[in-house]
Parts: sequence; structure tokens; C-alpha cells
Amino acid sequence: MEPLRIGLTIHGKCKSLSYEGKGVVAYGDDVFYVEGMFPGDEGELCIIYKRGGEFFGEIKKLDAISPNRIQPRCKICRACGGCCFQQLDYPAQLEWKRDFVISQLRHFGIDGIEVLPTIGMDDPYHYRNKIQVPFAKDRKGKVYYGFYKTGTHVIVPTDICHIEDKRAYHILNEISKLLESFHIDPYQEDSRYGVLRHVLIRTSFYKPQIMVVLVTNVDVFPSRNNFVKALIKRCPEITTVVQNINPRQTNVILGERERVLYGKGFIEDSLCGVEFKISAKSFYQTNPVMTEKLYKTAMDFANLTENDIVFDAYSGIGTIGLIASKNVKEVISVELVKEAVRDAVNNAKVNHVTNFLAYCDDATKFMVNMAREHRPVDVLFMDPPRKGSDDKFIEATFRLKPKRVVYVSCNPSTLARDLKKLSERYRIEKLQPFDMFPHTSHVETVCLLTKK
Ligand code: SAH
Repeated sequence: MEPLRIGLTIHGKCKSLSYEGKGVVAYGDDVFYVEGMFPGDEGELCIIYKRGGEFFGEIKKLDAISPNRIQPRCKICRACGGCCFQQLDYPAQLEWKRDFVISQLRHFGIDGIEVLPTIGMDDPYHYRNKIQVPFAKDRKGKVYYGFYKTGTHVIVPTDICHIEDKRAYHILNEISKLLESFHIDPYQEDSRYGVLRHVLIRTSFYKPQIMVVLVTNVDVFPSRNNFVKALIKRCPEITTVVQNINPRQTNVILGERERVLYGKGFIEDSLCGVEFKISAKSFYQTNPVMTEKLYKTAMDFANLTENDIVFDAYSGIGTIGLIASKNVKEVISVELVKEAVRDAVNNAKVNHVTNFLAYCDDATKFMVNMAREHRPVDVLFMDPPRKGSDDKFIEATFRLKPKRVVYVSCNPSTLARDLKKLSERYRIEKLQPFDMFPHTSHVETVCLLTKK
């Protein structure tokens, strides 16, 4: 058998999906991965690249088709790569997400725990409240926008994205036309010429409010005020426009400095009856319909009572803690980013919440201090970033001794690793996977633990 190499054509069958949602194909004792291939698909495949010692292929021709394969809504989903599951029917996506959580638990030797069926969306399209796109100009001078093809800086032109808020692409199309008529050039990465790098749009779910952020390479650009005026005239649904200045050569979309060009500079939205101010840089969950379901489940799992003292670790702009505050004695929230803490304090004021304290600190350090002072905590909410928590945080949890821990996770692999460690002192009661990001391989999970 010829060893795997780029360019090799192979007849293969997909048996399962990898953690990235790619089809896994066996080849001798080895495996390789194929984007857009699903269990049951079989056919001619070609190896196209190697990454981190593993090979990746593409489909040339299929002879047998997965029973779960469907016609995708999006014409460019294969080229764009943002939605690896557009061609997989929705029930199969939900099932894969639950199976993935179970497989990650097993990987860390955790068995026999209840993992509930994934809660999904009734209509899993147009769910995103935040979208950011780069612009470019073709040879004929026509301005277009799109999404980066996975792993590249090639912009795949788009006119409609099936997962973003429907209000966004009308605005993006109008921006394209206005850039042409005002002779404002999109930024080019290689020559570093041009003005507009990205446009970010944030939409409010409950209020008729939309924020447009123009990310520019330079501070001042010609006809800025007239451009904004013309944009508002064509899209009166926009309630605020912010300019963000990012002159650096970087993949990071937003720069440090910003200025409000129109409106208040933020939008407002609400979650579970609590109001939140959202500025250009705030972390805010991107699927408003599912976020409410997720937080409701987190509250149910926590089984809050009026005498409880709640600790909200990795608290962002205070979403979880503020929602919990209505039903408990006191909430202490800790977050590392100072802008987010400022937002959390403001959000408490706006909602007239007086039993909520927000601190800017490392969650672990703060918890160790609280344990040293013997301050009681009944319920710990933890919602860490993708890399999960760590041993020190978990040891601090053991010293703080909350009765219940509710772990909200956006990465089943780090969740399972952390649960293994937590299970030394806590019983893992149940896990509820959520589909916050339909058509992608991302899985969100809420887990309840109780003190042994
Ligand atoms: N619970 C919030 C935010 C979750 S995102 C929500 O649901 O909206 C995770 C947050 O953890 C980010 O805001 C990040 O800044 C913060 N964070 C990361 N490491 C941290 C640490 N060591 N201590 C405290 N916060 C941290």
C-alpha cells in the first residue's frame, strides 16, 4: 500500500466525523480527513494538504451517499468552509454533537453519566447577531465582500449568508455600492493600500437597533461624514456607526482606538428579561435565541434559592450573574477584562440590581482569597473560554466548597478534562448539550455537579 501523500487518489468510505466535523476515512492502519464528507459517503478522494502530521483530502466523485446528506441552502458552503455541516441534515448534526460530548467524557474515563439529547433550534438559520466581513475590489473595480476560505486569506464573494441576521446583508450590499461611489478603497493585505479593512455588524434581537463598525486602516479618510450620512439615508435601520482604527499588520480584526460617528456607540438587547448594553468590543453570545435557552437551563440546574450566595467566574459583561441575581441573596462576579467589568457594573445599574458585585481579577486568585477568608459560596457558575479551566482553579473550587457547580462550556474536550479533575470531590449529575452554532462543529454544554 502506497503511503499517504499529497496528490494521492484513493477510493474510501467515511465511517465517522472528527472533532472538527470532517469525515474520517481509514487507509490501512492510518486515517485521513475529508471536509464535507459524512458517514455512509463513499467514493474517489484526493489528498490535498498535510497539517500537523495529518493528511486532509477532498471529494472527487461519490459512488455511495450518506443517508443524512442533504442539498445545502448555501451555494458557497463548500468554498467558504464556515459551515462544515450545511450538507448534513439537522437531526444528524444534533446527534453528532451529543455523541461528541459522550466520546470526550469516555476519553477521560468518565462513563455512565446522563448526557441529554442536544437542544437545537426550531429554525437553524439566520441566527447570528454578529457578523464581520472583509471587503475587496475585483479587476474591474467592483467592490465585494465575503468570507475567508478556511485557513486562507482568499475572500469568497458572498451576497447572502444563511446563518447571519437577515438585516445584515442589505446593509453590506449598500456599503459595497457606497464604497464605489465615494471611491473609498478596501484595504489590501499584501500592499497595505486602501482604507476599509472589515465591517462588523451587531444586531439587537429584542430592539430595533443595529450597530455598524467600520474598521479602517487609517484615522482620517476622505468623505467620511458624507459616507456615513449616505449610509444612514439608505439604511435608516442603523442606529449607530462606530469607526475602529486598526493600522497594524495582524489577523485581529479590531484595533485599540475607536470613535463614534453616529448614534450612541452601543446597542441594547436583553436576555431572560435582563437588559444589556453591547459595545463594539464586548463579548456577547452570538445566538440570542439559544443563549436564552442555555442560561435558563444553567439557572434550572443551579436550583437557586433566596439565601444562596453565587459566584460567577469568567463573567464577561455579567450576563449569568445578573440573570441569577433576581433569585438569590448575593452575586459575586469575577472577570479579567476591565472593559467587560465596567459593562457589568453598568448593566447592574441599568437593571436596578443591588445584590451584584463585579471584580476585575483572575478568577482563581480571587477564589483562593475568598477561601482563605472563609467566605461562603453556595453555587459556582463557571463559563471559561475554549481552553477551559485549569488545575489551580479546580483546587480553589475544592477549597471554596460550593454545594453546586454549574459549568458552561464551549469546548467538550476541555470540559471533559476539567470534569475528570472536579469528579475527585464533586458528583457529575448531568450534561445538556446545546446547539448554539448550527451547521458548524461547535458544541456548547451545561453540566451540573454537586458536592460529594
Ligand atoms: N459568562 C460570560 C462570558 C464568557 S466568555 C457570558 O456568558 O457572556 C469567557 C470570559 O472569561 C471572557 O470574558 C474572558 O475575558 C474571561 N476570562 C478568561 N480568563 C479568565 C481568568 N483567568 N479569570 C477571569 N476571567 C477570565
